[in-house]
Order: sequence, then structure tokens, then C-alpha cells
Amino acid sequence: MNKLVCIACPAGCEMILEIKNGKVISVKNNKCPKGSTYAAEEIESPKRVITTCVKTDLSVKWLPVKTSSPVPKEKLFDFLAEISKIKISKPVKAGDKIAEKLLGFEGIDLIAGRTIEI
Ligand code: SF4
Repeated sequence: MNKLVCIACPAGCEMILEIKNGKVISVKNNKCPKGSTYAAEEIESPKRVITTCVKTDLSVKWLPVKTSSPVPKEKLFDFLAEISKIKISKPVKAGDKIAEKLLGFEGIDLIAGRTIEI
């Protein structure tokens, strides 16, 4: 028996999973179908949004950034290594796209978390 808390909404259902060969066979205690979807993704292909900072040459030395979409969990360190190579040398606005297609992944861009004028 495996337990997993669904984080798809504040209800936080404590689900009971049956897993076989890395696949979710059944889900119990979920109050809605989103729980099953979340369980399957979390067990079979977990993903995370990366939030971190990149260096700048500007008045503020670090710019908070996040990925526009969750990245495959097994590639987290590859993404962090790629992001660590980025240095910002011109003003940015919150929401600006800092980099596109990180590691070649379509739809995974890097987004500025704040505005830095100079
Ligand atoms: S299973 Fe449904 S009700 Fe329960 S936490 Fe997930 S989304 Fe919310």
C-alpha cells in the first residue's frame, strides 16, 4: 500500500495507491478524478517547476526566475546546470522570457520573476 497526498487542490486528499511495475493500477480515497491524474503523473513521470536565480550585471545582482512549465524531475540537475550559465546584462521586466526551449524542450522557457531597471 502506498500513500500519496494530492496537491491539485487545497482539500489535500490522502490517497491510497496500488502500484505495479511503476504504473498506478488503482487509486482510492480521492474525492475527484483529478486525484487519479495527479497520482499517475507523480508516480509515472513526475515533473517540477524550477524556481531559482540567475546572475546579472545590473544594480540587483540576482534575478529570480522560474520555468514556464514543469520539467521532468529526472532532468532537474541538467536544467539547473543550463540555467546557471545564464547572465543578465540588460534591464528586464517581470514576466519577460529570459531563455527559450531550455535543453531543447519545447514550451519550457525561463521567466523573469521581477523587474530590474538598471
Ligand atoms: S483528489 Fe480532487 S478533491 Fe482531492 S485534493 Fe485532489 S483535486 Fe482536490
